[in-house]
Amino acid sequence: MDDLLKKVEKVYSEKNRKLILKAYDFAKSAHQGQYRMSGEEYFTHPCHVAEVLVNLNFDAATIVAALLHDVLEDTNVTDEEMRNEFGDEVLALVEGVTKLDKLQFKSAEDEQAENLRKMFFAMAKDIRVLIIKLADRLHNMRSLSSLPRHRQLAMARETLDIYAPLAGRIGISQIKCELDDLSMKYLYPKEYDELISMVSSKLSERQEFIDTLCDTIREKLKELGIQGDVWGRPKHLYSIYKKMTSKGKTFDQIYDLSAVRVIVDSVKDCYAVLGAIHTIWKPIPGRFKDYIAMPKPNFYQSLHTTVMTKIGVPFEIQIRTKAMHTIAEYGIAAHWRYKEGNSGTNIPDNISNKLGWLKNEVEVQGELENSKEFLDSLKIDLFGDEVFVFSPKGDVINLPVGSTAVDFAYHIHSAIGNKCIGAKINTKIVPLSTELSNGDIVEIITSNSAKGPSRDWLKFVKTAGAKTKIRQFFKREMLEENIKQGKEMLEKEAKRRGYAFSDLAVPSWLNYIMHRYSMASVDDLYASVGYGGLTTNQVLLKLIEFYKQEVESKVVPEFTEANPKRSASGGVLIKGYDDFLIRLAHCCDPVPGDDIVGYISRGRGVTVHRKDCPNVKNMETERLIEARWPESGTNKAFVATVQINTENRGGMLASITTLISNMKVPITSASARVEKADNAVVIISVEITNIATLNEIIAKIRQIPGIINVFRATNG
Ligand code: MN
Repeated sequence: MDDLLKKVEKVYSEKNRKLILKAYDFAKSAHQGQYRMSGEEYFTHPCHVAEVLVNLNFDAATIVAALLHDVLEDTNVTDEEMRNEFGDEVLALVEGVTKLDKLQFKSAEDEQAENLRKMFFAMAKDIRVLIIKLADRLHNMRSLSSLPRHRQLAMARETLDIYAPLAGRIGISQIKCELDDLSMKYLYPKEYDELISMVSSKLSERQEFIDTLCDTIREKLKELGIQGDVWGRPKHLYSIYKKMTSKGKTFDQIYDLSAVRVIVDSVKDCYAVLGAIHTIWKPIPGRFKDYIAMPKPNFYQSLHTTVMTKIGVPFEIQIRTKAMHTIAEYGIAAHWRYKEGNSGTNIPDNISNKLGWLKNEVEVQGELENSKEFLDSLKIDLFGDEVFVFSPKGDVINLPVGSTAVDFAYHIHSAIGNKCIGAKINTKIVPLSTELSNGDIVEIITSNSAKGPSRDWLKFVKTAGAKTKIRQFFKREMLEENIKQGKEMLEKEAKRRGYAFSDLAVPSWLNYIMHRYSMASVDDLYASVGYGGLTTNQVLLKLIEFYKQEVESKVVPEFTEANPKRSASGGVLIKGYDDFLIRLAHCCDPVPGDDIVGYISRGRGVTVHRKDCPNVKNMETERLIEARWPESGTNKAFVATVQINTENRGGMLASITTLISNMKVPITSASARVEKADNAVVIISVEITNIATLNEIIAKIRQIPGIINVFRATNG
């Protein structure tokens, strides 16, 4: 404790010292009677955390919050008391740390770890919250030995996966390296001990060699007239271990156990020194890195080169300015160092642009210690456009700010979104349109009987993914409707043209048409007919063409002789075919001697019409086919119908039927009706074997007095 107070004495103003002391006393009494696992008083912990931050020269509010960081969570002190004693700023910092404490680390997957790290950033709206949390973790790791083994392993794993990378991300390499090495000590104790002894023996073995290198560089600097510091520094253990495991190298193959650093005044000097070093030793190709031109995301800037010495041992040299070096060591925390005004160097523009607050600070250096502007500038917003939430299983999901439970559902899976009927946030049922906040635990309620998304969801969902999936759902639903519709239209039109669509819908033919119109599937083809993208003709005409080609390939050139199967149709012959089912059309009742024509419909065979049948005029000519009566005649009797218009006289029907009976022609039906007052219509059907008999009947009836007109009737 004395250490802490001594340091505070040196660094802070009178006013701030008083404030820090007040917090010290406040925390001490609040934690009175609490002890750590090690048996120490609990209060030693916040003191150590504060000390880490004092060493980084943090502002008084941060130190006060560090001293108080476990007070809200672990003692009876209330928010209100803390606000009264220390104000809103300190309360906000302590609350922020308390909130971060509640985040649970649950998954070791890299992506999850990355998301969890981002969540820490997002929740620590003030960067100082995150830094206090890192200092807290550092001290917990330093005092980890008193915990049981399983707790040690869990905490070390979490530190290695989450906290050390976080420290690296904001560039505090001091804390990052120590967290790495402490985690390794507990996770891989054997390797840790081995590596320590190997490194220390190797380093002492090489100390003379490194001293010589540093001397050579110092001489070169003098020659060039450049001011600079040169020293060798061992790399941290975990980075060596990682290199060995990730690159499958043995310890002896790792040559850069230490790096030589050259710190100069200006960027110009950095490149001058680099050039000079490359004239002394040969650079190893592919090992030069210019992080000055291309800073790392954590603002780290430096030149790195690896050169080959005369004795065949390679080593790494890092060259940077003092300002870059401060950022390399302290990262974002370097900000507080600059405040002291003990550095004459400016922070490079490209970095200060990224770190708006840092630039701000450089410009108004020294006059801002408590100003609002300065404090606002600490509210970093690195992930301000993202929100991080948990699934009930503890997976971290990140979504754009403004995302809702529906966005979350679709992010998990489109099936979850489509079956979503409700949502719970932090176990409470909420409307689906509720916007998610950092750290929310989101649970989606689904139902298998859900009818799918609502169109209203499109009004509030934020993510493109959810929008697309909801639209897809409606498009797909419409698609099914369109497919059905398109099929029906094709069937109807095929029927109108005398085809059965099932005969035309041969898969290979449909595939041809599908590709011709760049459709992905036959269903798409039907669907586009359904919604009118394609006409039925665009599909049917080609199918009919295929169909005819197939039919013609079966064509036999001549009429084939009579087939016993054809007796029912009077032995009508169809050109080229001998296996069609033939039917005589009832609309015109052709009889032998009539000029006839066939009409092909595969499902129903060939229908034979009289050439003068009115229906033939409406038929597709390409489907008409030559037909003729057999030369040998036929024994079959055909029914033919005659219509007779007469004057309305008595005995007319009797005269006609007597005439026909006398010719020995059987009558199958006869009827008469009066049309107008002095006109009548007689319709008589007779059985004949050829057209000559019929013509004779018609000629004889015409001679009966009172007959107006006689003609062959059609039923169409
Ligand atoms: Mn703590």
